[in-house]
Amino acid sequence: MFSRVRVAKQKVYNLFAGFVLSFRRLLTTFAGMKIRLTKEFCFEASHALNNYDGLCRNVHGHSYKLFVTIKGSPNQDCQSPKYGMVMDFGDLKRIVQRRIIEVYDHALVLNKDNSFVSAAKSMNTKLVLTDFQPTCENMLIHFAQIISSELPEEVELQELKLHETATSFATWCKEDNK
Ligand SMILES: [Zn+2]
Repeated sequence: MFSRVRVAKQKVYNLFAGFVLSFRRLLTTFAGMKIRLTKEFCFEASHALNNYDGLCRNVHGHSYKLFVTIKGSPNQDCQSPKYGMVMDFGDLKRIVQRRIIEVYDHALVLNKDNSFVSAAKSMNTKLVLTDFQPTCENMLIHFAQIISSELPEEVELQELKLHETATSFATWCKEDNK
């Protein structure tokens, strides 16, 4: 009788130990795992490239698409409202909307040295003057600096992709810019 009770106790203990081990494995598997999140944005803007030897020296427009990818570990605090999230998509949206989309959407983007600047200023139009040639490539570098400065510490900007047309896009990658 005594030994049967012992065996039963041992079985319960083994079962409990199994659960603990599985739970620990689950935590170990999830802790520190990195995930990338991407959010897509759209904006319309016009620009002209100073001294360019092609058609893009003229003022013309693009329907830009911006893909913002961040990297981090999902929140493991089950008491947090952000449990299981790398970052709330809504928070990422608010940052990019405020710092990029609201500034550039339906704006004319010109290098401050472009000969169109004085005419554009007299037209009472939405104008963004840059210190750089507003190519897809330079806009990405500028956007990367802005977004990186706004992200919370626990996540990092991993990649930015900017489509100028459906078939032409540029990519900024963290690995390339360490
Ligand atoms: Zn263009």
